[in-house]
Amino acid sequence: MVGIPDLAAIEAMDAADPLRAMRDRFVLPQGVVYLDGNSLGAASHAAFDELRKAATEEWAHDLIRAWNTAGWFDMPLELGDQLGRLIGAAAGLTVVCDTTSINIYKVLHAAMAMRPGRSIIVAEGDSFPTDLYMAEGVVSTREGTVLRLAGVDAPDIEKLIDERVAVVLVNHVNYKSGELRDMMALTRRAHEAGALIVWDLCHTAGAMPVELDKANADFAVGCTYKYLNGGPGAPAFIYAAERHLADITQPLSGWWGHARPFAFEQGYAAGIGIRRFLCGTQPVLSMRTLKGALDIWNDVDLAAVRSKSIALADLFIELVETKCGAFGLTLESTRDGAMRGSQISFMHEHGYQIMRALIERGVIGDFRAPSTMRFGFTPLYVGYTDVWRAVEVLEDILRTGAWKDARFAVKAAVT
Ligand SMILES: *Cc1c(COP(=O)(O)O)cnc(C)c1O
Repeated sequence: MVGIPDLAAIEAMDAADPLRAMRDRFVLPQGVVYLDGNSLGAASHAAFDELRKAATEEWAHDLIRAWNTAGWFDMPLELGDQLGRLIGAAAGLTVVCDTTSINIYKVLHAAMAMRPGRSIIVAEGDSFPTDLYMAEGVVSTREGTVLRLAGVDAPDIEKLIDERVAVVLVNHVNYKSGELRDMMALTRRAHEAGALIVWDLCHTAGAMPVELDKANADFAVGCTYKYLNGGPGAPAFIYAAERHLADITQPLSGWWGHARPFAFEQGYAAGIGIRRFLCGTQPVLSMRTLKGALDIWNDVDLAAVRSKSIALADLFIELVETKCGAFGLTLESTRDGAMRGSQISFMHEHGYQIMRALIERGVIGDFRAPSTMRFGFTPLYVGYTDVWRAVEVLEDILRTGAWKDARFAVKAAVT
């Protein structure tokens, strides 16, 4: 067949989709095509059920006893193990806590301390900015430490990795272009130079199979409110390879990381294993919401998620280029599905206004300055027909010039 599939063919793809039934687990507004689950994942019935239970039964009824009776105290480690199964981590290597930003701070300090005599942190100039901001914070507290950036100090990250480098901090998927890094190869490259590597999995946890243990990764961080659907501000995670557990030190030495928090001792004594990355009391209601969201993944095959994600994104590219090709859009993501995450970016000079117009019409993606329009594909609750509808609306907005209305040029606080 030549040309793009028609609506009937696309509906048939949905009918044959092995993940189709998962959509009923989620709570989505009528008439919305949600292509921003890479920024804030959708709400689910399971998440609400856990949240309701934690608030109305455990908190309201058990009060402080719930730390023991409802297992609140152990949740960071239990959720860590549950999440670890989605990122190829054996039990005991992942903990859920704090934010990705804070976790980057802790993990970079831990890695620097394991490589005394080395003074360089390598990161990516086009990394998600908070990663760089936190690396700057680490540099500001460790005299003599310098930050070297791929794309600034050398074109390729590999060129920056030598025997002076303590740690390499990389995004598994670039938040703008969607480009996927080869975890095996770059980890090996860092290790050949004697450096450690930290993988930021914000855009891969829940988007595709990840194999941290198998890749021999040293550390990883990531958030749970994107593809894992943990809810706004849901706690993030940290992973450490088993071989590093005994050597972890980090400066946010709060009582939750203490070996005996309820002994109320005067001095800090680090707890055992991954627990050392904990600092203070964690947001229990958010953690319980996350528990509900993670339970959904017990019934999900990540390989099926990955293949549907690629198929959705390929279809999107094909439809956009065929129907909207005349309107100045440039594909920023690679066409090679195996080399990208679960999002597609198109650049357009007026991307901000076009995205605002799309959102007003119920097609929700997002915008990253200066000109990137991002569309995320979350196979648990986005179908092929959604892709079709999104492109129909995009074509209409571009053809009619509806995006030119002045109201779309007004910048909102969050894009
Ligand atoms: C979303 C994202 C973050 C977010 O960090 P928070 O501290 O949770 O706000 C960090 N790094 C990357 C690569 C991201 O995509």
